[in-house]
Amino acid sequence: MKVIIHGGFFSESSTSPETKLAKQQALERIVKAAYAYLQAHTALETVVYACSLLEDDALFNAGTGSQIQSDGQIRMSAAVMDGSSQKMSGVINIEEVKNPVLVAHTLMQEEDRILGGEGATNYARQHGYASFSTEIPQRRAEYEAKVKATGLGTVGCVAIDQSGKLAAATSTGGKGFELPGRISDSATVAGNYANEYCAVSCTGVGEDIVSGAVAAKIVTRVTDGQAIKAAFEKTFAELKPYDGFCGAIAIDQAGNIYHQDSHPSMVFASFDGAALDLFH
Ligand code: ASP
Repeated sequence: MKVIIHGGFFSESSTSPETKLAKQQALERIVKAAYAYLQAHTALETVVYACSLLEDDALFNAGTGSQIQSDGQIRMSAAVMDGSSQKMSGVINIEEVKNPVLVAHTLMQEEDRILGGEGATNYARQHGYASFSTEIPQRRAEYEAKVKATGLGTVGCVAIDQSGKLAAATSTGGKGFELPGRISDSATVAGNYANEYCAVSCTGVGEDIVSGAVAAKIVTRVTDGQAIKAAFEKTFAELKPYDGFCGAIAIDQAGNIYHQDSHPSMVFASFDGAALDLFH
């Protein structure tokens, strides 16, 4: 049993030491909570749980603390993928819900599993998700001052459970200042993908991640027999010609954990009950 989570990117030049420390503490707390949860839950349930904790922490750009789009609204996206059933479900540009990842998980029971915009928001209301503003004053002040919040802070989790099943979940508030209707990578197979061999969650510039089909490529390469490290290296090398900005976390069927970023530095933590690996 293992868990790895990410909380997007930060840059040394634009992140205060206090924020960095706060993110380290939050990731350590959440990865350990997710590992404890995994003892009695499936990988799928655990990735949803971990993402919901990350969404609830305003340090990250998902759920509470999400970025504001160019028209002043917050629209969030999230996806969940169960490696063993290969079912993916998600919401794209959902509004006014506390935990987009929980709505994405609820959609897994449906025939129509990925909903966008108003349809996603209406589905959430019909399934008991109350209207909730995820806006925090800091994001509104940044929006008013036309300052783009520093560091992309999408969240994600990948887990392997006691029966060797893999799952991935990703949740985002988007890039900030995007055109209404822009689609993030997070609820696509480029940003979040899993099968029985490997599960991957990405963060970074959604357009670059989609161009590089990052999560789907890594999973496909591992499925076809490449080692997880080689699969990452090849996929990240393919981002280079257009300076693609991406970070990814993954676990393979054998329980190997891997992560890589194209630029400094992705915020991540992994835990296997003994060893904690935390970004520094
Ligand atoms: N991937 C997200 C997006 O472009 C942003 C992020 O990773 O923080 O929507």
